[in-house]
Amino acid sequence: MCEVFNSFILEARDKPILTLVAMVKDLIMVRIQVNRDKADKWKGKLCPKPRLKLTQNVKDASACMPTKSDRAHFQVYTGSTTNQCAVDLEKRKCTCRKWQLSGIPCKHTCASIRLNREDVDDYVDECYYIDTYKKVYQHAIVPIYGPDFWPQTRRVGPLLLKTRRLEGLQGLGGSIQLKLQKMKKTANAKLENIYVQYARNKVITTGPARY
Ligand SMILES: [Zn+2]
Repeated sequence: MCEVFNSFILEARDKPILTLVAMVKDLIMVRIQVNRDKADKWKGKLCPKPRLKLTQNVKDASACMPTKSDRAHFQVYTGSTTNQCAVDLEKRKCTCRKWQLSGIPCKHTCASIRLNREDVDDYVDECYYIDTYKKVYQHAIVPIYGPDFWPQTRRVGPLLLKTRRLEGLQGLGGSIQLKLQKMKKTANAKLENIYVQYARNKVITTGPARY
C-alpha cells in the first residue's frame, strides 16, 4: 500500500513541501472523481472484480454436493467423502476458510446458498457493494485558486537572502567548479605525499628485524 502511494506521488516527492502538498491534493482530487465516474457506470450490486470472483465460485459450485442440516448449516462434499466441508450461513463460515478470508462466498457456500434458493450476492461482504464504493468516494476535494488571486497585504514581505561567495575562492578567476576541481587535486596530491612519507617511516621504524 505504501509503495503504491509512493509511486502515485512519484513526481511530487522531490518537490518543496508546499508544492508537494498542492500536487498530492490535485492527484487525489482527480482520482476521487475518476473513481466516482467509474462507479456510476457499474450496474447491479457488486463491484466488477468481486463479481468475477463470485461468478467463478458459482461455476465451481456445480462440482459440490451440499447436504442440508438446517436452514443455516450444510455439509458439502467435493468429489469424495474425505473432501468435506461444513458451512454455517449464519456465522458466515466454511471449513476451507476462503469465505472468512475474502468475504466472498467460496464454492461450498455457493452450492449451499443455491440449495436454499437464496441470492448469492446477499452473502458477499458489504465492502464489495457498489453502494459502499460510492460512499467511500462521495466526498470531493474542493478546488482552490492560485497565488495570483490571493488577497494583497500591506505588510513588508520577507527580505531576499544575500548571496555569499565560498571562503578561499575570493580573488580567484574562472568558474567555481574549476576552482573546486583544482583544490580537490591539490588536496589529493598532499594526501598522497603524506601517505608515502608515512609508509616510508613505517618501513624504517617498524619493519621486521634483520639478523
Ligand atoms: Zn468453502
